[in-house]
This record gives sequence, C-alpha cells and structure tokens, in this order.
Amino acid sequence: MSLSSSNTYSHPCSYRAQHLRCVGGILFSGNDAVLVEGSPVNCPVCEGIGRLITAQGEELLEFCRIYLQPMITETVKKALEEKL
Ligand SMILES: [Zn+2]
Repeated sequence: MSLSSSNTYSHPCSYRAQHLRCVGGILFSGNDAVLVEGSPVNCPVCEGIGRLITAQGEELLEFCRIYLQPMITETVKKALEEKL
C-alpha cells in the first residue's frame, strides 16, 4: 500500500487551506514545500503522517484500547497510519 491509496481504516490526508496543501504530511505551497528556518512544516491535521484514520479505523483502535495491551494498540495505530 502506498501513501496515496485509501482503505477502510485510513485515507490520505487532503488538507487544504488557501494556497497550502498537505502532501504526504508536509505542507506545500504550489509545487514547493513550505520551509520555516530551512525545515519543512508538518501538516497540522495529520501531524506530518500524511494519512488520517477513518471512523472504522477509530473503532478498531477503540477495540484495541479496551481489549489489548497499550503496546499492541500503538502498533496497530502505526500500521493504520503508515502501512495501510
Ligand atoms: Zn496532512
């Protein structure tokens, strides 16, 4: 799976504001990454991850929080955000 594909549990972040948009978690203005003091700026919505978890993904995480250990929940969350 790539960052640009959608699935049941997560989808690419499509944050847009005025001339800014999120590309893989980094803010772009036109074709250029927005830089502050030479560093790219993370998208405020997905926090630099580039993906957002859907309602179904949140349900899955809620299940993990209730029934599984925190470490496993974190692993599942990472998988939803980065791998799916
Ligand atoms: Zn974003």
